[in-house]
Amino acid sequence: MTEQNSRTDAEMPVEIAGAGPAGLAAAITLARAGRQVVVHEMHREVGHRFGGDYQGLENWTTKEDVFKVLERQGITTDFNAPPGDNCTIYDPAGNEHRIKSDEPLFYLVERGPGPGTLDSALLEQAQSLGVDVRFNSRLREMRGEGILAAGPRAADAIAVGYHFDTDMDDGYWAICDNELAPEGYAYLLVANGRGTVKTCMFSGFKQEKRYLERTVAAFERLAGMTMRNPQPHGGSGNFHIPTTAYSGLHPRVGEQAGFQDALWGFGMRLAISSGVLAAQSLLSGENYDRLWQRELKPQMDAAVVNRVLFSLASNRSFTRFFSYLSTRKNLRESLRWQYQFTFPKRLLSPWARRRYESHRKDVTCDHVDCYCIWCRGDCCVHD
Ligand SMILES: Cc1cc2nc3c(=O)[nH]c(=O)nc-3n(C[C@H](O)[C@H](O)[C@H](O)COP(=O)(O)OP(=O)(O)OC[C@H]3O[C@@H](n4cnc5c(N)ncnc54)[C@H](O)[C@@H]3O)c2cc1C
Repeated sequence: MTEQNSRTDAEMPVEIAGAGPAGLAAAITLARAGRQVVVHEMHREVGHRFGGDYQGLENWTTKEDVFKVLERQGITTDFNAPPGDNCTIYDPAGNEHRIKSDEPLFYLVERGPGPGTLDSALLEQAQSLGVDVRFNSRLREMRGEGILAAGPRAADAIAVGYHFDTDMDDGYWAICDNELAPEGYAYLLVANGRGTVKTCMFSGFKQEKRYLERTVAAFERLAGMTMRNPQPHGGSGNFHIPTTAYSGLHPRVGEQAGFQDALWGFGMRLAISSGVLAAQSLLSGENYDRLWQRELKPQMDAAVVNRVLFSLASNRSFTRFFSYLSTRKNLRESLRWQYQFTFPKRLLSPWARRRYESHRKDVTCDHVDCYCIWCRGDCCVHD
């Protein structure tokens, strides 16, 4: 008997593919419970695909503030996160709608390897708990216990734009106009002399250059945007509610599983929560599918209905919708309600799911166990 075979599962390190929020949240949860964990990250640093991107950590899907939720999950909150309680939204006619909430709608976080970012904080917490994070290590197969946290596998939406320096005051702006961001929205986030401007598109990907030019011109005109040293940046998102989030015996977490907010692409919380749930399932033996379907699926189902309704909205209906939003006193609560899988949403769900199809095939592996990372026909080696 080899030394490896003589060790019990609980003594063997759990392998995790990917040091994004999902993989690191899983690693932290396992390490806190005393398990040995090795995280493989194919890049030389955390948050490589984001490098300084500003993102919103949404604060509307739970009644409890997201920071309380993170604390309860045992996940660090030691990263910079100024609260976002107001935003200026422009409708397609250029009318301004000021939106204000009593409680933060989101927290602005920075992604990437630098100080104060979400990714660095998660890495630091994982390493302080003894997690072995191996950079420049691309995992191609997984033989023992492990979690697949390798990010998106298809592009259902793309966000393209720039990171830049600026003299503008801090603020948050968005434009909903199908001429700038088909079926999506354009946004501008500025804090501490740095900014992110993006068009987030759910269709028309091939014309991204044209939509980005229009987005930049619109923010210059409407919000007085000024950019110094603009650096192009972009990425994709994968939205998919799988029938099972296992590949063989291995749980898939975050965008690797397709877990995303189909309405607007706020995927960070789903990534962290699914990482925590997958780790808990390994620790307790509880079925991971049962856990994420109970904790995460209702809000994803609601988001799919929201997405289909949003994508059918004309430019005229945006104007009415934002006028309504700007009159809401408790906007966080209104948004939270939109993400509840309420009776009307349940009724619309089969129709919405038929209309909304991820660009990714459902590649769920139905083998008893599978040693590959991707579990895709073209690179999958089944025993
Ligand atoms: C431009 C843009 C803006 C966004 N804005 C927001 C926002 O405002 N709010 C929000 O909530 N969400 C936002 N998102 C979505 C959010 O960033 C993702 O949902 C989240 O990062 C997903 O986390 P993850 O851990 O699943 O995947 P990732 O963050 O992609 O991490 C996966 C990691 O796995 C590594 N990896 C891949 N393959 C392997 C392998 N074989 N072996 C080892 N390592 C591997 C990758 O290098 C990567 O580091 C945005 C996304 C984009 C692209």
